[in-house]
This record gives sequence, C-alpha cells and structure tokens, in this order.
Amino acid sequence: MTNLVLLGPPGCGKGTQSKILVDTKQYFQVSTGDLLRKSVNSGSKQGIAVKKIMEKGELVPDSMVIEMLLDVIKKHKKKSFIFDGFPRNINQAEQLEKSFNKNKTKINFVIFINVNLDILEERIKKRIEESDQNNVREDDNINTLLKRVEIYKEMTLPLLDYYKRKDLLWEIDGMQPIDVVSKNIKEIIAN
Ligand code: AMP
Repeated sequence: MTNLVLLGPPGCGKGTQSKILVDTKQYFQVSTGDLLRKSVNSGSKQGIAVKKIMEKGELVPDSMVIEMLLDVIKKHKKKSFIFDGFPRNINQAEQLEKSFNKNKTKINFVIFINVNLDILEERIKKRIEESDQNNVREDDNINTLLKRVEIYKEMTLPLLDYYKRKDLLWEIDGMQPIDVVSKNIKEIIAN
C-alpha cells in the first residue's frame, strides 16, 4: 500500500492527475473538495453552511473536513490513497498523520505540483478585466479564485517545509503538459 498526497495551488491539475492515477494505478482518490460538494448538493444544514464558505473561497473548518476524511479512510481500509486537496494546513496534516500512525500506516510521497503563481494570478486578473461588469456571478467566481490563491499561500504553502523536514517532499514542474506531469508522478511513486 502506498499513500500519496498531491499539493499545489487551485488550478494546478491535482484533480486531473489524481484521476489518471486512479485509472492506471488503482489508487483510491480522496478529494475533500468533492466530499464537500456532495454535502452542499445534499441540501443539508451543514451543506448550506459549507456552500457559503466555499463561495467565499475560504477553508471549511478543520473539524468538519477531518471527520469526513477519516470516515472515508475507515470505510476503505487496505486501499492505496491519493489525497487531493487535503491537507490544506498544518493542523490537517498532523491529524492525518495521527490517524495513520494509529493504523500503522503512513504517507509515502508528497508531490508538490508547482505552477507559477504570478501567471495564475495574472490570468485571473486579466479575466476580471475582460469580464462583463454586469455579470456579477462571473466576478464572484474570479474573486473566489483570487481568495483561494491567497489562502493557499498563507495556509497551504507552509506544508512544503513541513513535509520537506519529514523527507517526504517531491516537486514537479506543473507548467509542463498533463502527460509529462503524469509521467513524472509515476516515476516518483515507482521509487
Ligand atoms: P477543491 O475542490 O479542492 O479546489 O476545493 C474547493 C473548496 O472546498 C475550497 O476552496 C475550500 O473552500 C473547500 N475545501 C476543500 N478541501 C478542503 C480542506 N482540506 N480544508 C478546508 N476546506 C477545503
């Protein structure tokens, strides 16, 4: 069993790469974003609260995300997991590690898909300028994306150092074509 964490900013291709690994390497993908969207679509009280947070581009409280994640891990014991969008901060990383330690398992690889944040932000800002000012929803989405990048820098980037110190961190140039990034990931997990 090999457990893998994919790290990187919104839009770097974590989801795409996870799906390739699920199809070709029999990993079980755990996307906290997907789990939260399911909760939103259920229309439950919790889902309504989550929707508001996601729309603002902020992080959903750790307690809620961690509970959802541990529940999935428990249900799919003995699988190789690929974590897509989790952890998003140090506390989440520590909680995941604690749970794995209890079950005598561990994270084997943390792969950072590095994309140029300036280019990402520039792209988003350009889209703001070009968007129809009457189309409020489009602006909201773009603002959400900018907020997500900001939160990524503040909360998620410190994870690079955290995992580097644990000797788990690998870095890939995420500006390359999808198939090259995928090949790079497969080379790393073959180690
Ligand atoms: P994603 O699909 O991973 O891009 O996530 C979409 C949104 O879901 C994020 O902007 C957050 O609001 C929320 N979210 C996803 N994963 C997490 C997480 N691990 N911790 C907190 N919020 C999360």
